[in-house]
Amino acid sequence: MKRTIKWMLMFLVVALATATLPSLLPAKAQGATWTVSEYGYQSNYPDGMTFTIKATSSAGKIKNALVFWRHSPVASRTRQTGVVNDTGDGVTAQWVKKISDAVPQWAGVEYWWQLSDEAGNIFETERQFAEYADNTRKWARFESEDIIVFLEDGVPTEVAEASLKAMEEARPIYQKYWPNPLGYKPRAIIYNSYTTWNEWAPGIGTIGRSGENATIVAGQTNSTWGATVQKFNPYDQPNVDDQIAYTSYSVVVHEVAHLYQFVNGGTRGPSWFVEGNATFFELVGRDGMLQYARDRAQAGNLPTLQGDGPSATGAFARDAYNIGFSFFVWLNETYGAEAHKLLWSSIDQGRPLKESLEMVTGMNFIDMETAFRTWLGAPNPVAPTPIPDPVLVFPPTPTYEPTSTPKP
Ligand SMILES: [Zn+2]
Repeated sequence: MKRTIKWMLMFLVVALATATLPSLLPAKAQGATWTVSEYGYQSNYPDGMTFTIKATSSAGKIKNALVFWRHSPVASRTRQTGVVNDTGDGVTAQWVKKISDAVPQWAGVEYWWQLSDEAGNIFETERQFAEYADNTRKWARFESEDIIVFLEDGVPTEVAEASLKAMEEARPIYQKYWPNPLGYKPRAIIYNSYTTWNEWAPGIGTIGRSGENATIVAGQTNSTWGATVQKFNPYDQPNVDDQIAYTSYSVVVHEVAHLYQFVNGGTRGPSWFVEGNATFFELVGRDGMLQYARDRAQAGNLPTLQGDGPSATGAFARDAYNIGFSFFVWLNETYGAEAHKLLWSSIDQGRPLKESLEMVTGMNFIDMETAFRTWLGAPNPVAPTPIPDPVLVFPPTPTYEPTSTPKP
C-alpha cells in the first residue's frame, strides 16, 4: 500500500530547539546595513518560549528590539520586548505563558523581529517558522500536504494514518465547496490523556464528567492556533477501530471545516447552521444523520430552523448536527455545489445569514424551510409560525455587491 506519510521520530531532548539556518544577506534599511547572523527559538512548553537573534547594524549598536509572533496567518500577532546584550549585537525575548494566553503544544510559530539601532534606524527581519514543541513527553509527528498530526504517546498510530487519508479524501471536497482556501496547513493535536490537555487548559474535559447531564469536552478548534486539539476516545469506548475511524473521518475533517468557515466570513450563527455545515464535510456516518432528520420530519416533530433552531445541548444535542447536516444535503441536492460557495461568499461579504440564504435559494426563509421539510418527507411540511430571529452576528459588512440568484 502506498504510504504518503512522512513520519519523524519523537522530538525528545534536542528537538527543534534552535538555530534556523540563516539566509543572511545584509539588508539596507534607511541609512544602515543590517546583518542577521543567527535566529534562535526555544520552546519551553508548558511555560512559554524564548526567542534570540544575533544581528548588527552598520550605524550603531542595537538599542531596542521587539519580537512578534502568531500561530496562524489569520491570527493577530503577539509581541514581546527583547533584552539587548551589552555589545549591542544580540537580543533575547522571553514569553512566559499565562492561563489567559496559553496555546496548545505543537502550535506553529511564525515569528519576526523589529530592531532599531542607536542612530534610530529600524529594521524588520524576514519571517521565521518554528513549533511550540512539547519536549516533556513523547509525541509522534506526521505530515502530509493537507495536515500535520501530532499523537501523544499511547494514541494508536493508525489515528494519524487514517487522518492523513481522510484529509486527502476531503481535499477536493473543500476545494469544491469553499470560496476561500484555508491559506495554511492545519494541525491536529491528539491527546491520550486529559491530564496532558489540562496542563495548558485547566478544567478541560473534567467538568461535569459524572451525573445525568454529563458533558465531556472532546475537542476544541481555534483558528488562532490554526489547529484542533482532541482527546482520543473521550468516552472510553471499547472498540478502538471505531474510535480511530471516528476521530479521522468524522472529527478531524469536521474541525478543519470549522477552520474553513473562519476564513470564509466567520463561525457565528445558530448551531444548526455552523455545526450542520461542518458536519456536511464529515466522510462517514452521513446516512444515519439524514435518516434521523427524515424520521423526525415524518413523525411531525422536526424542530424549526427559526429562532435558535434545533438544539445543540442536552438530551437532543445531536439535533443541531443531524438536522443542520440534512439542511446542507438538501441545499446541495437542490442548488448544487455552487450554492454553498455563493452562500459563504455572501457571508464573507458581511451579509446576514438569513439574507444570504434567501439570496441563494431565491425564497424567503419560511418558504425555504417548508421546501426543506417537504424534501425530508414531512406529511404537513408548512414551517411553523414565525418566531423572532435570534441575534445572528456576522462581522460588519464592508461592501454589498449585487450577486445573481440561482434558481432551483
Ligand atoms: Zn463542530
